[in-house]
Amino acid sequence: MAYRTTNPANGKVLESFDNISDADLAARLDELDRGFRTDWPLRPIAERSRIIAKAAQIIRGEMTRLAEIISRDMGKLVSHAVGELTLSAAILDYYADTAEQFLEPKELPDAPGAKLHALPLGIILAVEPWNFPFFQLARVAGPQLMVGNVIVAKHASNVPQCALAFEDVLRRAGVPQGAYANVFASTDQVSAIIDDLRVRGVTLTGSEKAGAIVAERAARNLKKSVLELGGSDPLIVLEDAPFEATVLNAMVGKMNNAGQSCVATKRMIVVGKERGEKFLEAMKSAMGSLKAGDPLDPSTTLAPVSSEGALKGLLDQIDAAKSAGAEIALGGKRIDRPGSFLEPTIITNIASDNPVYRQEIFGPVLSFYVVPDEAAAIALANDVPFGLGSSVFTADLERGERLALQIESGMTFVNNPTWSTPQMPFGGVKNSGYGRELSQLGFGEFVNWKLVAISKAGALPPGFDKAG
Ligand code: NAP
Repeated sequence: MAYRTTNPANGKVLESFDNISDADLAARLDELDRGFRTDWPLRPIAERSRIIAKAAQIIRGEMTRLAEIISRDMGKLVSHAVGELTLSAAILDYYADTAEQFLEPKELPDAPGAKLHALPLGIILAVEPWNFPFFQLARVAGPQLMVGNVIVAKHASNVPQCALAFEDVLRRAGVPQGAYANVFASTDQVSAIIDDLRVRGVTLTGSEKAGAIVAERAARNLKKSVLELGGSDPLIVLEDAPFEATVLNAMVGKMNNAGQSCVATKRMIVVGKERGEKFLEAMKSAMGSLKAGDPLDPSTTLAPVSSEGALKGLLDQIDAAKSAGAEIALGGKRIDRPGSFLEPTIITNIASDNPVYRQEIFGPVLSFYVVPDEAAAIALANDVPFGLGSSVFTADLERGERLALQIESGMTFVNNPTWSTPQMPFGGVKNSGYGRELSQLGFGEFVNWKLVAISKAGALPPGFDKAG
């Protein structure tokens, strides 16, 4: 059975689920199609808003229970799970509050009589990853359900309980079966869903490999896709960045969710040799002081990574980095206790021909670089296939903004690591994908911006004074 909860903190298999049968999948799609044609988008916006706001309220009211489900599915510290749930509820509230304004038909002042109406497209497929199992679903469900689209959601196979819990929250809030369906689908079934004529768009958050496969399938079917893929976010530290605040921010950027975030700080790039040494010592001390333990115990500060497979992948990358001449300044080994725990790790002396130089390392591993000046920092920041988030630390905010514009990424934060709010668009460039989630931009990704142009009865189009 592909869909399974294996607690990463102790390796125990807690629950398994069968894949959905083809017949049940067909029935769910029929139900969504019916829901789209006869129910969900036809309801008044205020009613949809009430339902989505109610889902946010349920999440807030059941925070502890839901945080434990997240933690058992994928190993997150329970405090981090509470943070994720808080953000998920805020996203749902944001779209419940703003949809009416976003959906307001827009007059086109330069085209008298013409208006743009935001109409839903139909069934949208969401393929989502395990690392923020509620947030990822909320950032699709909030905007798309408020637009009036209906959703078939295929969550990652290691977070089935989160997938079910999120669907249950929506259902209890009043989202009908014809508007949201979680399906435990195989990859072949995902392809079949994309091929289905009634499915009008696909959004995937995950790896480059899965993104390319799903987007190719969507393209063959002439369907729009949005891809939120991997990243190797640089955190640039300029000469004038305040020392302690920068270290604290770098720790948040690196260690949130045990480093398993697309926008985690993956590469720290410090300008100046002396400051480089000081920052390296500070990061070694801060990362080295984290304590591995049960993620459900609030005193634990280091969570396991999501699975044995993920741990093995990280150990392989660390070995490959070492074999190619890099040094392991901190950690680098499995922690000797049950569960998939990796020592917080810092890799230095990574040459540009080292395989990890251009790879994403998805865990509690920091690639640390020291460069002579600002220009070298920007060149290094941009010398990867990814372009998701990034950050620059400096006391000079104008310089920070100037450098932000030189970094090839979808998002740059000055004096913070990359973070996310409902109001800020989220997404990348290069191999990190295309399209945006969150904010008004995310709301508009699967919308038919329908032009309706009205002329007086009997009028000819401008420029034609007679027919023909
Ligand atoms: P993944 O293997 O690509 O999995 C993501 C989702 O895609 C899962 O639901 C997975 O299902 C599904 N999937 C995988 N192969 C598929 C295929 N051939 N056809 C259809 N669906 C397929 O990603 P991951 O390695 O677990 O997740 C981590 C990656 O996601 C990292 O690269 C990370 O940076 C990226 N990420 C990006 C963002 C962002 O917003 N840009 C956010 C979070 C994570 P199964 O679980 O059943 O394989």
